[in-house]
Amino acid sequence: MGTHRKISLPGGAFPNSKEQASLPAMKAIVTCALTGVLTDPARHSVPVTPEEMAEEARRAYDAGACMVHVHFRRQEPGMGRLPSWEPDVAGDICDAIRARCPDMLINMSTGVVGPDISAPVACLERVKPEMAALNAGSLNYLRARSNGTWAWPPMLFDNAVDKIQRFADAMTGMDIVPECECFDTGIVRSVGLFEQVGLLKSPVHISLVMGVASGMPAKASWLPLLVEEMPAGAHWQSIVIGRSEIWDVHQKTAELGGHLRTGLEDTFYLANGDKVESNGPLIEALVQVARDAGREIATPAEARALIRETH
Ligand SMILES: [Zn+2]
Repeated sequence: MGTHRKISLPGGAFPNSKEQASLPAMKAIVTCALTGVLTDPARHSVPVTPEEMAEEARRAYDAGACMVHVHFRRQEPGMGRLPSWEPDVAGDICDAIRARCPDMLINMSTGVVGPDISAPVACLERVKPEMAALNAGSLNYLRARSNGTWAWPPMLFDNAVDKIQRFADAMTGMDIVPECECFDTGIVRSVGLFEQVGLLKSPVHISLVMGVASGMPAKASWLPLLVEEMPAGAHWQSIVIGRSEIWDVHQKTAELGGHLRTGLEDTFYLANGDKVESNGPLIEALVQVARDAGREIATPAEARALIRETH
């Protein structure tokens, strides 16, 4: 991964180091998850085309985000609710985002079911993002309806160690920083094991994905315990999926020194229950959460340095 530096602690310290309480809070990286995987653009105002993605990235940037997390969708008319792993689609979307927001960092999703990772790896090669999501364990992806039926057929999101290793190797080879998405407590702890056996380099980046019905709940009270289970020196953020209840979790994340992410992929709702049509108001609210916790927002240049800092 290139140029890892040892730096002195003040201002650059990470929150789950033992010295946490005595150090100044580090700047918060604010990420906008611009669009989702399968939300139907006919029913929700999610961006699909390169122009729409770039416009939403700009709104997020103007509101204080320095990074976008992106998924790519099929571009043919009426197909925008389905994911695309065409490198040209990925490239067109990220070129448009970079043209509109030249210094913004890109974090690319890579989640696929099954052992074949060639399509997301081809997109990584085309886009060369600064970061990429690395799904760090398997999950039964479930939701039940109030009438006692499954919301969708039960699905195994399979991320065996061999698949994780191949993704990690591909990212390392391209100098992309992996962001470990953890849907459950055991997956958070697995990331420490991956670091221990050298599958991942230090410092690891942990995303606590909260609010999936069969994963960790979106509850602020869980955060201190989860932070305790992270390897020393880990960078971390919360990804909170749900409605207005997510904002308590964001506030606690900011207070505990985590990085912050929201966007139309994760929610359509502000803390007061208002529904939004764009990423802008969500990022404005998240920046306010950071400020309320006494945190400053990282610029894109600061974020570039922060994601590679060791200590
Ligand atoms: Zn995503």
